[in-house]
Parts: sequence; structure tokens; C-alpha cells
Amino acid sequence: MKKSIPVASSVSELRARIRRWHKQGLKTAIVPTMGALHNGHLSLVDTAFRHADRVVVSIFVNPTQFAAGEDLATYPSDDAGDLAKLKLHKTNLAYIPDVTEMYPDGFCTSIEMKGPALAKLEDRFRPHFFDGVATVVAKLIIQAQCNIAIFGEKDYQQLAVVTRLMQDLNIPTQIIGSETIREIDGLAMSSRNAYLSQKERARAALIHECLDEAAKNIRAGKKISNAMRNARSKLTKGGFNVDYVEARNAENLAKVKILEDGPLRLLCAAWLGNTRLIDNIAV
Ligand code: AMP
Repeated sequence: MKKSIPVASSVSELRARIRRWHKQGLKTAIVPTMGALHNGHLSLVDTAFRHADRVVVSIFVNPTQFAAGEDLATYPSDDAGDLAKLKLHKTNLAYIPDVTEMYPDGFCTSIEMKGPALAKLEDRFRPHFFDGVATVVAKLIIQAQCNIAIFGEKDYQQLAVVTRLMQDLNIPTQIIGSETIREIDGLAMSSRNAYLSQKERARAALIHECLDEAAKNIRAGKKISNAMRNARSKLTKGGFNVDYVEARNAENLAKVKILEDGPLRLLCAAWLGNTRLIDNIAV
């Protein structure tokens, strides 16, 4: 088998490599992930290379962002497959720390955020989630000290939270958002799509279809509240259990009533059987 890309498993190895690149005057980027990589993740690597000379991808399934009863234990993992995919995309380094490297004995810090982390979207249904995300992202970014970090628009509220986090803590790594990559039928790629049964998979693209239709209707002058009500009812009829489907201001996630409250973003989370899917779209 051909050689894998280099893998760092400790903060000291990670820093040593990145410091060397910075000394050579190279610009660096980090792409944080939880592994089980798909083309959405790999597109972030490609985006990273448009902004930087060297790209690090971290793979860490962060326990602190999962609540009891969520899918931490069953979250898909495939380090060997991930490394092969990262190699095809010319990734320079994978950072795969274990839980004790990230949360050693005695670890007792957590970052609690307000603002976009309390927008009443994901946080309404996963109240523990953004404290876990903010803490692990701050750690990864401070560990790596790259010039930039790439996050997907797929997790739109997360992108807003991370952007604010960097401002609030004066962390100089620049956050860049990267567009959502979809399957041919429109379903946003996600590691969790692997949980869908064949029947569920056949219906899963309805989320994107409903968001797309709502966006078109709003652009055409339809009332936002009506467009969102239609989207919700179509999803429910299609077998989804909807957590939320809402129109928000794309910049600050504030609630909106009319098109002029925009730029608008439509955001949705819904269950299909035991799988929770999220998606969003610009209007
Ligand atoms: P995850 O491994 O799910 O934590 O995702 C790692 C990063 O990949 C996050 O910044 C996600 O927003 C991003 N991502 C996940 N799915 C997609 C997708 N379909 N298109 C673009 N970015 C994505």
C-alpha cells in the first residue's frame, strides 16, 4: 500500500510541523472535522488550498458536543479511508488526537456563548451543543495556530458561532465559510446520511426541495410566514418530524418578517426515522 499522509496525534507534533511551515513563510489552514469524510469535507480542503499553501485536517469526534442519548457511540469512523481521501486532495497533515490529548485528566474549562449560540435554532433542540463546539474549536484553533480555518455553510449557525468566538477571544485565525456540497438529488452531504435506510434515503432530499421552493416563493413576493408554513407542512406530510424550519437574517440570525429584514437564510432541522438532518439555503 502507498504511504499515508503524515499524521500528528499530539499538540506538540502538530505545532512543530505548523511552526516549520510558518518559518518558511508558508500560509496555513486547518479544516476541523469529525471524520467519516465525504465530498463535503473534501471540498473544504479544496477551499483551504485556495487560501493557503499547507492544509491540516483534524479528525476528532468531540464527546463534549454530544448529549447523553445522542449518537456519540455509533458515530461513523474510518481513519484509514479518511487518510486515503485526504491524500487524494493533497492534504499535508492529518491531526488525529485521542480524547486524553484533548481532554486530559483535570480538564475543567468550557466556553459558554450567547448571541448566535442562543438564536433558538439548533440550541433549542441541542442545548449542550454549542458549548461543546466552541470549546473544542477554540482548542483546535489555538493548538494549530494556522492562518485560516475553514468551516462549512452546511452548519450555518455553527459558522456564525465560530466566527463570533474568534472575534470575542481575539484569536487571529481567519474563519472562512465554504458552500454546501450536495448529492445529485439535492440532499446535503453528511456523515449522518449513512444512518438512513434505503427508503429514508429516497425521501431525504425533500428538505432541500422544500427550502428551495420556499426561497423561490419568497423571492417571488410570497409572505415569509406562509412560505415557511408550507415548507413545514410538506415536510411533515413527507414523513419528517420537523424540529424547526425558519427564515432568519443571514448575518445575525435574527428573526425576520419581510424580505427587507434580509439578506435571508432559510434553516431547517428535521428527523427522518432516527436520523436528524440539517440544511439551509440562501434566499
Ligand atoms: P463534521 O465532520 O460534520 O463536524 O463537519 C466538519 C466540517 O465539514 C464542518 O465545518 C461542516 O460544516 C462541514 N461540512 C459537513 N458537511 C458538509 C457539506 N455537505 N458541504 C460542505 N461542508 C460540509
